[in-house]
Amino acid sequence: MSIIEERARALMDRYAFKEIRIPALERLSLFQRSTGDTTDIVEKQMYAFSDRDEAETTVALRPEGTPGVVRAYIDAGLDRRDPEQRFFYSGPMFRRERPQKGRYRQFFQFGIEVFGRADAACDAELLTLIRDLGVELGILLHIQINSIGDSECRPKFRDALIQWGRTNWARLCEDCHNRIERNPLRLLDCKIDADLAKSAPSSLDYLCEACRTHFDTVKRLTSAAGVEFTVNPGLVRGLDYYTRTAFEVMAEGLGAQNTVIAGGRYDGLVEAMGGAAIPGIGFAIGVDRLALALHAAEVVKERTPDAAIIPIGEAARAQAMVLAHDLRAMGQLQIELLSSDRKVKALLQRAGKIGARFAVIFGDDELAKRVVQLKDLKAGTQEEVPISRLIGALSRPAKA
Ligand SMILES: [Zn+2]
Ligand SMILES: [Zn+2]
Repeated sequence: MSIIEERARALMDRYAFKEIRIPALERLSLFQRSTGDTTDIVEKQMYAFSDRDEAETTVALRPEGTPGVVRAYIDAGLDRRDPEQRFFYSGPMFRRERPQKGRYRQFFQFGIEVFGRADAACDAELLTLIRDLGVELGILLHIQINSIGDSECRPKFRDALIQWGRTNWARLCEDCHNRIERNPLRLLDCKIDADLAKSAPSSLDYLCEACRTHFDTVKRLTSAAGVEFTVNPGLVRGLDYYTRTAFEVMAEGLGAQNTVIAGGRYDGLVEAMGGAAIPGIGFAIGVDRLALALHAAEVVKERTPDAAIIPIGEAARAQAMVLAHDLRAMGQLQIELLSSDRKVKALLQRAGKIGARFAVIFGDDELAKRVVQLKDLKAGTQEEVPISRLIGALSRPAKA
């Protein structure tokens, strides 16, 4: 388990989220309805194929987690019986992409979904959760938020964007020409027309009273919790079901692919999927990309062996098995047992190569005295240590 998943799971426990396991394979129609027919994901990136069942159902590998969680939530009748739920999921997702650093066709997501909470405090709590994750991982995360309105006010913003798109038709790329009618919010997402999009209308100028109050409350509560963020009016979600609060989180040291968390509110989704009118909000962490950020920030050092064991001779070889077991089980140490078929000099080189802190060397003489030769590979020193004191010697902190 990656350090990211490990820390995220520990946070989930403290924030009282329960794990939900969702299938990797679902009907294609689930994603068409929830992810949205007009998104790049459904249009271009899905691995979909016909099953060999009688109906030749078209199934797809999940490109994201939310649709499956919502389906499971409705199937279980929770939307009517017990609507307020806090879930997390983790696992591989699949999208047809041109593979590059930080972008893979099978990638790992860790996500959370909250149902039954329409209040702004919930949005703010999720932002504190993201801040806490950054603290846990020892990495600086930049949170950007926006509000994209709701069914009350978004149509006016949409109209304004269509108008803007038509006015700027000649300067927009071909993809954007299609977006103008099909999904005008995504005009703001365009990588090619990013500069031009700065002159586009802002959703914040079109918010209705209720959406304005919601957004102001999210900002106030998030600030009160000591969480830093910036408002980015150009931030829209490529997925159709988002309402009101949308957010993205960037990490440093990743270049262009620097978004490591994305999410927001989706108050209309559960109902659109055939459930009751229950609000929802969630986000997903791109674990592979966040791992690259941790590497770039050098906060995650791979653990290297505490010791490499080098037995000399047949009796020592047998004893080495027992010793390695004791050090691992009782000392909780990372131990690599080296082959005794090679010369000691080669084995010491091997111990250095794998980054071991110590080499534990012993032959018949040492066995008779119940001691080992303990070589500190960093300091270059060597001492004779009784086996009974070996765990203590291997566990002591390195001198700075
Ligand atoms: Zn464009
Ligand atoms: Zn509104």
